[in-house]
Amino acid sequence: AQRPYIVGNWKMHGNRAMVAEARAIDRAAERLIKVEVALAPPATLIQAIRKEASLIGVGAQDCHAAESGAHTGGISAAMVKDAGAGFVIVGHSERRSHHRESDAEVRAKAQSALSVGLAVIVCVGESEEQRDAGNAEAVVAAQLEASLPRGEHVMERVTVAYEPIWAIGTGRTPTVEDVASMHRAIRAQLLAVYGPGAEAVRILYGGSVKADNAAELLAADEVGGALVGGASLTAESFVGIVVAAA
Ligand code: 13P
Repeated sequence: AQRPYIVGNWKMHGNRAMVAEARAIDRAAERLIKVEVALAPPATLIQAIRKEASLIGVGAQDCHAAESGAHTGGISAAMVKDAGAGFVIVGHSERRSHHRESDAEVRAKAQSALSVGLAVIVCVGESEEQRDAGNAEAVVAAQLEASLPRGEHVMERVTVAYEPIWAIGTGRTPTVEDVASMHRAIRAQLLAVYGPGAEAVRILYGGSVKADNAAELLAADEVGGALVGGASLTAESFVGIVVAAA
C-alpha cells in the first residue's frame, strides 16, 4: 500500500514566525517516514519554509492559469515553482466560491501547474444543500469531469481531495461510510478518465480532520490521506494527525 499523504493547508494564516512550526513538523516527519507530509503555506512563506524544512513537501494554495502577464496580484505556477513549491492546490471550495472559480478555470490552473512540472491537488466537494438533496455524488462527478487535467502521464502528478463544504471548519464530518462511498465513486471516475493506472492516484479526505478522528477517516475505503486546514496550523496538532496516520 502507498504511504498516507497528509497535507496541511494553512489558508490565509502564517507569518515568518510560523516557519518554526514548519520546521518542527519537518523534524517529526523525519521520525514518521511511513507518512508523506506536506504543507501549503501562503505563497509569501514558500521560500522560507522550503529552506528550513528538508523532508516535507511544500506547495502553493493556488496559482494563476496564465504564464505571466498583466494580472495584478496574480502568481503563476512558474513563480511558485521558482519559490520552491513542488505542488499546487487548485479548486479549493474557498476559491470556487469566494473567487468564483469555474471548473474550466480550475482545470486551466491544473494544466498550467503540470506544464511547469508541478504536481496538483484538485479539490472537489458538495454543499450541504446539495448533499441534502441527494446530489452529492453527481455534483462531485460533474466537478471532476470538468476540472481534472487531461493528457498523457498527467495522472502520475494528480491527487484529488474530496472536501465536503459543510465539513470545512465546522467540526462536522461525514460518516466513515459516506466518505468511503464518495471515495469509491471518485476512484471509479478516475479509472474511467485516466485508465487502469489511476488506481495509484491518491484521494484525500478534507474537512474538520483532527488528531482524534484522523485514524478512522483514513481507514475508510479509498482514502489515501487527508487535507487539513485548522489543525495544520501548529506542529502539535498537525503532528498528532501524522502520528494517527502512521
Ligand atoms: P479544516 O480542516 O479547517 O476543516 O479545513 C479543511 C480544508 O479546507 C483544507 O483544505
